[in-house]
Amino acid sequence: MTVPDHDAPICSARGCRAAAVWVLAWNNPKIHTPERRKTWLACEEHREHLSKFLGVRGFLKDVVRLEDWKSPESGSPAG
Ligand SMILES: [Zn+2]
Repeated sequence: MTVPDHDAPICSARGCRAAAVWVLAWNNPKIHTPERRKTWLACEEHREHLSKFLGVRGFLKDVVRLEDWKSPESGSPAG
């Protein structure tokens, strides 16, 4: 059993320990200001699932490759 590197970004899908490849940027207009971006991380397998989850709620703003993502607030995707 391999223990993932704590510095390596991990997919945000529940129970998934795969390395994240995608950043899903989203915003809930009811609780966030319009310029605010929350981020979820997704592996290849969960990108569609997570983006659909956000998309049906109208929250999804952007899907960007992790390597191309420049986040102003790097930290935990939770919250
Ligand atoms: Zn995953």
